[in-house]
Parts: sequence; structure tokens; C-alpha cells
Amino acid sequence: MEKRKIAIIAHDGKKAEIVTFLNQNKGLLQHFKLIATGTTGKHVQDAGFIVKKYKSGPLGGDAQIGSLVSEGKVAMVFFFRDPLGKHPHEPDVQMLMRLCDVHNIPLATNPATANHLIKGLALAKQREIKSASSTFLTKLEKRVLIGEL
Ligand code: PGA
Repeated sequence: MEKRKIAIIAHDGKKAEIVTFLNQNKGLLQHFKLIATGTTGKHVQDAGFIVKKYKSGPLGGDAQIGSLVSEGKVAMVFFFRDPLGKHPHEPDVQMLMRLCDVHNIPLATNPATANHLIKGLALAKQREIKSASSTFLTKLEKRVLIGEL
């Protein structure tokens, strides 16, 4: 089964924060395919994650991810925005956020919300494991599922 996609985007002033957030949630995130806008993706890659990079935000990356959202191909978006900066591609940012709302896709625009979303994911994963454990999962498989291995 193909892994579901999580989109990772951060304005320049927030790139360090998003990398910290990803590092704190490595175990859980390994169950997803990470995609990102270009420069954010480079930071994410440098932190040791496997990530598919699209164009840089100002060159259309947010629009590309918006398009994937509209096709139902993205499970969740983490977009750490810098509310104090000016961004030439603001219309694309608005478009991406709008499409998340149109398609009811969870979108976190700051670390506090992202932490709540990730807790929700962890709970869902636990439930999945619980129901799987009543079947034939070995101890080893369970550890892989919860991201210990
Ligand atoms: P970037 O784009 O990852 O290429 O910096 C993010 C953005 O500003 O939308």
C-alpha cells in the first residue's frame, strides 16, 4: 500500500522550527511520504529525511502542492508561515490554504497547531496497532509500526 503524503512547507524565518518539529516526530512521520517545497525540502533532506521536493515556493511550489491537495493526494499540510515577513507569492499561499479548506485537509500553520495534529495522528496510529494486534502481528512488527525500529 502506498504511504499517504504529508506536505511540509516553511517560510524562511520558520525553516529551523519546522526541522525541529520533524525531528521531534521522526518515528511517526516514517509512516508517511514527505513532500515539500524546494528550499524547505532541502532543509528537511539535510536533516536526514527522505522527501520529494517540488519547486521553491516563490517559483510555484505552493501551487504544485495545492494542485495535489485538490486531487486528494495529500493527507495533511504543515505550513509554518512567517506572519511578519512579506512574500511575493502570497497569492499562491492563499490558494493552497483555500484548497485545504475546500477539500477539508488538515492544515497547521504554526508549531502549536502542528503539535496537536501530530498527537491526533499518533492516536490514530495507536488504534490501528491495537486493532492489528488482535490479528497476527509479531512483537517485531508492532515495534516497526510504532516507529521504534
Ligand atoms: P521554499 O518555499 O520552501 O522554497 O522556501 C516555501 C514558501 O515560501 O512558500
